[in-house]
Amino acid sequence: MKMLEMIKNEIVNAFLFDGDFIYAEPFGCGHINATYAVYFRRETKPPVRYILQAVNTAIFTDPQGLMENILGVTSHLRKKILEQGGDAQRETLTLIPTRNGNLLYEDSEGGFWRSYHFIENATCHQSVDRPVLFTNAAKAFGHFQKLLADYPADTLHETIAGFHNTVDRYALFEKAVAEDKAGRAASVEKEVRFFLDRKADGAVVVDAIAKGQLPLRVTHNDTKLNNIMMDNDTDEGICVIDLDTVMPGSVLYDFGDSIRFGASTADEDERDLSLVSMDLELFEAYTAGFLSEAGSSLTAEEIRLLPFSAKLLTLECGMRFLTDYLNGDTYFRIHREHQNLDRCRTQMKLVADMEYKMEDMHKIVAKYV
Ligand code: ADP
Ligand code: MG
Ligand code: MG
Repeated sequence: MKMLEMIKNEIVNAFLFDGDFIYAEPFGCGHINATYAVYFRRETKPPVRYILQAVNTAIFTDPQGLMENILGVTSHLRKKILEQGGDAQRETLTLIPTRNGNLLYEDSEGGFWRSYHFIENATCHQSVDRPVLFTNAAKAFGHFQKLLADYPADTLHETIAGFHNTVDRYALFEKAVAEDKAGRAASVEKEVRFFLDRKADGAVVVDAIAKGQLPLRVTHNDTKLNNIMMDNDTDEGICVIDLDTVMPGSVLYDFGDSIRFGASTADEDERDLSLVSMDLELFEAYTAGFLSEAGSSLTAEEIRLLPFSAKLLTLECGMRFLTDYLNGDTYFRIHREHQNLDRCRTQMKLVADMEYKMEDMHKIVAKYV
């Protein structure tokens, strides 16, 4: 494989690794970056491995700004973890610099590489096969929020512009309806109406941030289970990883999105909508875990909007699927015809179910504040 050759001949020499290179292998199940584990032999110490990643510059067009975000956030976390007597190399990502003292190495073909200390004896789970993993994920993301509550979020680069700007997303949606590029608008009138009926919801968080009613915070923006390393012995979520999408935003974005995909009873593209709902037990499991860590650092307004945020992020996601369907499936990869419409419909079903269960969600939140 060409990439492994390049790693061996060029990339590994660029970083401050300890020992003699043995081999490299593709590692993990990430879908965005190309991730490898690289192994080194050492004279007097046991062998060691590192994570080596080629940053996906098709998505992240400003790799330097992205690395500044990661350095800022992990340095802040490291300081807090050490103050509390924790193990910083295990509880946050540790960047390995290049021999020139940089955080990124640009290879001879224009690719950008970075390296992390390998977090051993921990696993990235791909699915919630035990409910405790969901609660532990919530605790880990809540802890991440808590430690970063005093971070100056406005100094972070916006690595993907307008990522959760629902007002802009609505504008793009209405443009797609008007242009009707794929000639599908007439066939999805009901769906289009569903999102237009909820347009006011799209402005709630964006406006509140602009007015200073909601604080700007460090948001992770990819709060999936497989972006947490969990201890192999205790299942405890020890380290939040995958910090590429760390941006200034609202804590509601991370919470809402976690509920959107984590508390749903069905797959994102399920065609039998009778199987799709928001599971209140899962909502409670996540809320309990999240608030046990982050609760004391949230404002009253943030807490009040937690249930709404689940609906908002689901609405946004469903609208993005419909926008893409109207544009002719140019953004989200599809594996069958109408898959983006199916995805849109599951999100609509979830939104409707959340509206129905809104009072229950508020009661659950009240239990844990
Ligand atoms: P992507 O954006 O492609 O998802 P990630 O940063 O999440 O990339 O990394 C992909 C996978 O690599 C993770 O799911 C995890 O299994 C593994 N991984 C990443 N960083 C580390 C690390 N520091 N220690 C151990 N494994 C890691
Ligand atoms: Mg990942
Ligand atoms: Mg990622």
